[in-house]
Amino acid sequence: MTSTDVPTTTSAMTKAVLDEADLPTHWYNLAADLPAPMPPHLHPGTGEPLAAGDMAPLFPAALIEQEMTGERFVPIPEPVREVYRLWRPSPLYRAHRLERALGTPARIYYKYEGVSPVGSHKPNTAVAQAYYNAAEGVRRLTTETGAGQWGSALSFASALFGLECEVWQVRASYDSKPYRRMLMETFGGVVHASPSELTEAGRGFLERFPGTTGSLGMAVSEAVESAAPDPEARYALGSVLNHVLLHQTVIGEEALRQLEVFGETAADVVYGCAGGGSNLAGLSFPFLREKLAGRTGTRVVAVEPAACPSLTQGRYEYDHGDVAGLTPLMKMHTLGRDFVPEAIHAGGLRYHGMAPMVSHVVDLGLITAQAVEQREAFDAGLLFARTEGLVPAPESCHAVAGAIAEARRRADTGETGVLVVGLSGNGQLDLPAYAEHLTGVRTPATGDQPF
Ligand SMILES: *Cc1c(COP(=O)(O)O)cnc(C)c1O
Repeated sequence: MTSTDVPTTTSAMTKAVLDEADLPTHWYNLAADLPAPMPPHLHPGTGEPLAAGDMAPLFPAALIEQEMTGERFVPIPEPVREVYRLWRPSPLYRAHRLERALGTPARIYYKYEGVSPVGSHKPNTAVAQAYYNAAEGVRRLTTETGAGQWGSALSFASALFGLECEVWQVRASYDSKPYRRMLMETFGGVVHASPSELTEAGRGFLERFPGTTGSLGMAVSEAVESAAPDPEARYALGSVLNHVLLHQTVIGEEALRQLEVFGETAADVVYGCAGGGSNLAGLSFPFLREKLAGRTGTRVVAVEPAACPSLTQGRYEYDHGDVAGLTPLMKMHTLGRDFVPEAIHAGGLRYHGMAPMVSHVVDLGLITAQAVEQREAFDAGLLFARTEGLVPAPESCHAVAGAIAEARRRADTGETGVLVVGLSGNGQLDLPAYAEHLTGVRTPATGDQPF
């Protein structure tokens, strides 16, 4: 290696870190600015539009109100902002080394949510949901989790607000990915493998699908069934619903201000990975507000796994959020609630449906979608790790892959511009998945799930 091979240093700015005082005071509700209203959620029994009272057994009043509100800006309660300050505002980085490796004239930025206590964006809503439940006297929260990111976020948030947290974890992950289960238990969460014998739905699944290793849709049914009849319990969902997307908009509000700190006036393209749609919405909806107001021409791209392609291959129709059909009917891009995706590593992207608000916005043409194969996603993650020094979560690798493809295209055409990537989490607990990608050998830690 000659001295000219050594990457040159740059004096250009690398990260924009806002002060705690700059933490957003409000969440942003895109519903207030949509050119066409969203189709309502429907009651699973009657098929009529859902009334606030229908959701009362599952959610506290404040969250039901947020689910249906048309208010543009919703104040973030001070106790929630206090917890956010543990890691927010999160940094926005300029990916100088990745740009050089790609030889692209585009400027790539990434908003890094991996700095949270559990390493992903999910505490942004977990903290808000735990706060509102505690404020209304709820004592126990139930939920489902796949790989454990959401379960660990809710366990963390529940601990801070004095709630019990009971988590149904998809059996496949419960057995093969023990570290997040340990993290949930460290925060005081109680974890059951799903399907379990503890609920009627779980016993039914075990009978119908003997030996099943579960799915998120099954685990939702169990968590909902456990909370609904208990007056002291409520259910919490980590993605998909309007109020979850709302809470995640702190990501995009911060990113807009951080781009200004870098001296950028607008983003050309925003990339987010899409499982249930919450981190994509959280980053992109404030950018869409600016676009709808005519101030920018930002494009938003949802990147999903080819193995679970709800936006690019699913149908836009009413479907349930769970397998048993206990949840409201929501109009969304769906592969069907019985769809069981193969065991790809991006566990957070293995959901049959897509957030109704993201689906609606895709239908309106404000977000476009693309699907990426697992191999391409991990190759992107490796290049990112080897240039930027952060190991992206397997989910986040999809967003990185989308941006890398565009940056390469711009390397050919000479087009400059600003690409913003949502780095929804870090991959520190997903290293066995990286190892498997590198060696092509399945390890006990990644499992070999039969679905
Ligand atoms: C859960 C998760 C996702 C997928 O969920 P969305 O609601 O689509 O954001 C993406 N990235 C990470 C790191 C996750 O934990």
